[in-house]
Amino acid sequence: MRLIDRDRPDRIERSLTPEEAAAVRRFCSEGQGVQPGDVGLVTAVLEAMHDGRHVRRWLECDCRPGSQSQPRLTARVRDEGPRHFVRMHQYGEHRCTLASFRQDPEEEVDADDELSAPGKHHPLKPVGDALDYLDDIHEGVARSGSPGESPGDRVESEKRLPRLGRIMHTLLEDAGFATVPVDSLKVKTRSWERLDAWAHDEAMSPELTLGQILYFKPWISPAGKMAAIDSLPWPGTKARSALLLFVADEVREGAAVKHTAMGERMVRPVKGIRAGGRDQGLKQPPYWILAVVDRDRDGNGRFREAFVQHAYSAAHPVPLDSRYERVTLESLFAVMEWVRKRGVNVTLCKPLFDREVLEPDGSSVWCRPDFELTFRTVAVGDTTARLHRIVVETMGADAPEYLERKSRTHAIMKRWGVLIELRVANDDGQAERNDAFFRRVGAKILHLAGVPRPPTDREAHQ
Ligand SMILES: [Zn+2]
Repeated sequence: MRLIDRDRPDRIERSLTPEEAAAVRRFCSEGQGVQPGDVGLVTAVLEAMHDGRHVRRWLECDCRPGSQSQPRLTARVRDEGPRHFVRMHQYGEHRCTLASFRQDPEEEVDADDELSAPGKHHPLKPVGDALDYLDDIHEGVARSGSPGESPGDRVESEKRLPRLGRIMHTLLEDAGFATVPVDSLKVKTRSWERLDAWAHDEAMSPELTLGQILYFKPWISPAGKMAAIDSLPWPGTKARSALLLFVADEVREGAAVKHTAMGERMVRPVKGIRAGGRDQGLKQPPYWILAVVDRDRDGNGRFREAFVQHAYSAAHPVPLDSRYERVTLESLFAVMEWVRKRGVNVTLCKPLFDREVLEPDGSSVWCRPDFELTFRTVAVGDTTARLHRIVVETMGADAPEYLERKSRTHAIMKRWGVLIELRVANDDGQAERNDAFFRRVGAKILHLAGVPRPPTDREAHQ
């Protein structure tokens, strides 16, 4: 194995030592045990590959002797997470143990979230490898739920995101749907083009890109899509299928409905639609839908199953966990417009994966706030404007155990940012609570950003 220059791949920077190569293979191959010292060696290799801002070097394998090209790994940094390896499928598949790739040995640790201490659960992370968007052959629908799940487990399983939901969250995050800078509030989203361009850039094999299997038009029939899929060069270990991602105007009677000029288009998966988030009523559209398209036993194209999640609006389809969060987001958008007039540009983020917070002893705890607001200090001539973060939690009418657990993770969130809560309930007091929340968030942003407090009405009229 060797490190090669990303811009001049024919230039070998250096070969890995046998110890380094063995450490990378143990760390990144499924089913392998990691030895003491491996993490240190792997971290050093990753640092040589990615300087924190850009990829500088790729790691080229040597497991295809006599072949024109060797499989390569690149490095990626996502959000606040650590550097990690990503397979580059366009240069051929590994014949070494890396053929069964994992990003992180901890992926295989199956911790029980409900028994672990707050923040010590197994973190929810994006799907690291585009090839894993596809089912392995013969695995089919069995993999899409949690192992051994039965209808009686329903309440438990809703707490964990199913595999299809994790794929949806990864796609939405990568395409930028979870991040809203204040200047995008007045324009309709253009993220579709970005999503399409990104998908066409994501290799799943030397011949196949994600853009060939991911599509956004629910009016294309499953039979038509599968005919196109059948003509593609396909990775040998994977079942032929496609993914349909769109914003539905309605979900009713087991179907996701899109209103078009041609009438209603229905996506009715044979194995049903599974809801993400905590409320399952699905009476407040729009909704994000991710559907798997494949063939049944008789070879007919079909929508097999789908995952659904609240979207804020058609113009700004920020994915949400519950209808309560709509109330919070509406207020936050209003606050963002208000502080912008006072010179503070806020970016809102809906975290779709867990945030890592370091304990004083260096260990990690994890949290996922409902929303994050980030902005910089407003100061004339200051080039080192500090970045501030406010985290916002929606407290809805949930079960007492859920609220209790949530309040315990708030201690962790307070270390991630300034925590502000909004209680949302179906009662007469909501307008008043929204008002107080608006003023509290607005005042906190102006204070942190260093903007002088605006005069109150009385002062202004004196
Ligand atoms: Zn290899």
